[in-house]
Amino acid sequence: MKCPVCRAPFRGDPVCSRCQTNLLPLLEIRHHAFCYYNQALEQAKKQQWEQAAASMDAAVDQFQSQTEFHLLRGKILAHLHRYHEAIHAWQTALHLNPSSTEAQKCLSTLTDLIQQMKLSTQRKN
Ligand SMILES: [Zn+2]
Repeated sequence: MKCPVCRAPFRGDPVCSRCQTNLLPLLEIRHHAFCYYNQALEQAKKQQWEQAAASMDAAVDQFQSQTEFHLLRGKILAHLHRYHEAIHAWQTALHLNPSSTEAQKCLSTLTDLIQQMKLSTQRKN
């Protein structure tokens, strides 16, 4: 997480060490977003994919710059066969954290799968 004003890395203080911006409102929003994220995790464990997707939409809506949010959102969307949205979510995760091996892995697995599905429909025709 970074200070939205001066982009200084967040060091755990509710006031930015560089520009003195009050970060408390941001921390509160982030906390709410994590509540939705935890809720989505629970729902995903119970395979309640529709509800989990709604929770993750709410989490991402509140706080967009958390790589894990987009990773989990992508996985849930993939379970709902919303593949293009899943790919978009993982691309966002990768954009936020270019070294995320999990995002890379998810993306390549799903693009392989889509490729295979395309091939099998071509064979049927
Ligand atoms: Zn700052």
